[in-house]
Amino acid sequence: MIENSSFESGHSIRKLAVSCNMDSFGHSIGQSPLPGDPFWHQVLDRILNIADKHCVPITFFVIGSDLQDVGIAKRVKELNQLGHEIANHSFSHPQNFGLLDSATIRNEIALAHNLIAQCTGMEPVSFLSPGWNVNPYQGSILKSLGYSSDSSYFPHFILQLALIKMIQKKVIDRLQGRKTIQYSYREILSRQDYLLPLLGVEKWLKLKGLQKEVPLLPMENGNKIFPPPYWFTLEYFSKHLAQSSFRNFCKTGQKYLVIHPADFSDISDVKSIRSYKTNSLGRMDIGYKKYLKLFEERLLNLKLHGAQFTRMRDLND
Ligand SMILES: [Zn+2]
Repeated sequence: MIENSSFESGHSIRKLAVSCNMDSFGHSIGQSPLPGDPFWHQVLDRILNIADKHCVPITFFVIGSDLQDVGIAKRVKELNQLGHEIANHSFSHPQNFGLLDSATIRNEIALAHNLIAQCTGMEPVSFLSPGWNVNPYQGSILKSLGYSSDSSYFPHFILQLALIKMIQKKVIDRLQGRKTIQYSYREILSRQDYLLPLLGVEKWLKLKGLQKEVPLLPMENGNKIFPPPYWFTLEYFSKHLAQSSFRNFCKTGQKYLVIHPADFSDISDVKSIRSYKTNSLGRMDIGYKKYLKLFEERLLNLKLHGAQFTRMRDLND
């Protein structure tokens, strides 16, 4: 049972998870799996150092195709043995996930599911769609595979602002002659969930004639319009907005913190990779060290206020 009581009381324990959307560097340059992928090696070590130091389990949402590399599969196996959760983030991370047909969606989910099960010996039970892009077919497919949670829903306008930022980055890259190979404009905009922030999850499902097939863990912060839900990348958008979202996160019912490996990396990690200049991850142009320290501070702050960290799979217990 999750306690939703305020941290402000300073007494109650609140279960919280850390969701690491393990979008690999290889994926960002269209080369998944990338042997020696820095995100799966030195960047993962940075995250694990902090997780180990503060005994915080992390749920790693893994792109299935990355597991075809022996080195990455070995790391995933180790993470599982250390007690972290290995969860499903689709096979190839198609950014137009929302508009794909039922057979393709089943394939995307089942292929990643089987690769994770083979690698760890445990079937994954938590799912996150690529880019929080929801598809009408995913619920029944996840149910048939025994999933216990789906955190693909992001019912807030801030996600749409993030899409605009992705497009803006593509335009700037093009003007600067920097080739961006990840995602076409069409893929970025191929969504079915533009009304999600207006309607909320329940009404949106009803509008689409869908049932809630597995328990949902939407990315929401007490259903507030402002400030938006806190996720770590927000620190790169605006310090003030992130600060106000984090304060709200401490007080309300948001159940997990989201991080990405790109939050803790910069171009020094990837300059030996020939095609690194094609990456479209804007925040990698900025040094990561201060953000790594900030992540640790955020975790400590949450712990001081009574957070008990758990895996996504245990949030609904
Ligand atoms: Zn992703």
